[in-house]
Amino acid sequence: MADQEKYICPVCNKTFKYSKNLTVQCPQCKIDLLDMDISIEDWEALSPKEKRAKIDDLNARRTELLYLDRIHKRLRTISRWVVFFGVLFVISIIVVSFNTCGSMK
Ligand SMILES: [Zn+2]
Repeated sequence: MADQEKYICPVCNKTFKYSKNLTVQCPQCKIDLLDMDISIEDWEALSPKEKRAKIDDLNARRTELLYLDRIHKRLRTISRWVVFFGVLFVISIIVVSFNTCGSMK
């Protein structure tokens, strides 16, 4: 039993015990369970309040990760636009300087 770990469904918050390093799904939600990184013994030793706190903590961390992922995607879009306008700016400077040279003759 020592090689079993506690897993949790991120949707319905139900907990399960499975062998370590398994990708398992919640039978109800059909979604990958999260490894709670805690052994069955440690989990059973927690009080209901501590279990609740552990679940909340895990959900908070997950929300944070999703949030960071969204920021990262947005930054990527912004940097793409910065590169686009940067190239446009350089091209317009070249065009303007060519025109200025031409009119000076
Ligand atoms: Zn579920």
